[in-house]
Amino acid sequence: MSYMVEITVVGAGVVGCAIARELARTGREVVLVEKNPGVTRGENQSSRNSGVIHAGLYYDRDTRPLKSRLCVAGNRMLYRFCEEHGVPARQTGKLIVAVSETECETLEIYRRRAVENGVPVQLLNTAQVRQREPRVQAAAALLLPTSGIIDPAALVARLYHLADGCGVQIFPETRVVKLAPAPEGVAVTLEYRDGAHDTYRSRIVVNAAGLYSDDIARLLDPASPYRVDPVRSEAMKFYRTRRPELFLEGMNIYPTPRRVTTDRGAYFTVGVHLTPTLDSAASGRDTLGATVTVGPLNRAARDKSDYGGPYRPETVFLDAVRPFFPGLQAGDLEPHQVGIQARLAGHQDWVIEFSPATRRCLNLLGIDSPGLTGSLAIARYVRRMLEQTQNAPKSHPSA
Ligand SMILES: Cc1cc2nc3c(=O)[nH]c(=O)nc-3n(C[C@H](O)[C@H](O)[C@H](O)COP(=O)(O)OP(=O)(O)OC[C@H]3O[C@@H](n4cnc5c(N)ncnc54)[C@H](O)[C@@H]3O)c2cc1C
Repeated sequence: MSYMVEITVVGAGVVGCAIARELARTGREVVLVEKNPGVTRGENQSSRNSGVIHAGLYYDRDTRPLKSRLCVAGNRMLYRFCEEHGVPARQTGKLIVAVSETECETLEIYRRRAVENGVPVQLLNTAQVRQREPRVQAAAALLLPTSGIIDPAALVARLYHLADGCGVQIFPETRVVKLAPAPEGVAVTLEYRDGAHDTYRSRIVVNAAGLYSDDIARLLDPASPYRVDPVRSEAMKFYRTRRPELFLEGMNIYPTPRRVTTDRGAYFTVGVHLTPTLDSAASGRDTLGATVTVGPLNRAARDKSDYGGPYRPETVFLDAVRPFFPGLQAGDLEPHQVGIQARLAGHQDWVIEFSPATRRCLNLLGIDSPGLTGSLAIARYVRRMLEQTQNAPKSHPSA
């Protein structure tokens, strides 16, 4: 333990990369540790998500203050960032559709929440939905013009390279295996690819380990009550140009959100949605691709690496989306990807707080959706939290 660094960030997903860059830009010495060999294609949330830039209406300020504020702020920051750094993204807009009287009533709750959160929103009738997406059926819909899509792999890659350019020392294929309180910091033990170990002191540790953030929190605080309850999310895809009935103009199409109760507790879901993709080979940064993804279909994961095995039958995907997109047939669907979400058991909001064992470790727990949208705002929030803690240890920054 011969040397000391200022800040160690655990995990180079979109959140860890954004935090490392944000902190290094203010002149701080940052080490970024990632157990995977690469950052853009792998088994983490940042490589396997829906790629939606959320507008920020799903989360109310009372029960999910971090998600609501950081999603709305992150949305604006992300579009600016993508423009400035050439990351493929497109402001497609989103329709949240209602197909029954009850769903129309639920839409009104979300319309009011959008207004409360400062998110632009418009209520559309059937004809107005048809004008925008002729093949979508709805009794009514909310139009969210600030929603969009992004190439998540390109975003992570860009943040990673910008972090590198700001002087962040990056250790890929390196795992944080032990944390322990140490004088003026935390003793961090790394395990390299060849199995060798090394321990150093870090004044601050930021735990951005996604699915494993609860395990990292327990390294310093074995009694930590937080537990990530991994959720396996399967997505299929279809080609929107294959048949006229499948042609979508390019908006995100979501059902009305609902609450799901399982034997592991109740949770809220945005539902199985249709998401256009970007054509990364095209010359335009925001050219639509030919495929549309259909998902995610969620279930409790067996464990944090439950990526393999068969998808559920196509009929389950069809049952979810045909009420509003009747032209889709089983033969149109192909597997797209399986992702695993870091849902925090018993918590609706993200938890960003110092370890009770030492205020030198900041834990980001349960950073599930909309963590991609919120990533830049989360990074700014973390920077402010660290800055304020130096002056006023008990205060929390405004999001
Ligand atoms: C199926 C799915 C769909 C989603 N859709 C959307 C969406 O449309 N829009 C949206 O805004 N959000 C979406 N999300 C959420 C979003 O992807 C996540 O919130 C975001 O990617 C979280 O990033 P992260 O960096 O916190 O975590 P991760 O991407 O999981 O990264 C954590 C990193 O920590 C590393 N790590 C773990 N343990 C260690 C260790 N001991 N040592 C070193 N490194 C370690 C891991 O290897 C990993 O790379 C979705 C998520 C999923 C799974």
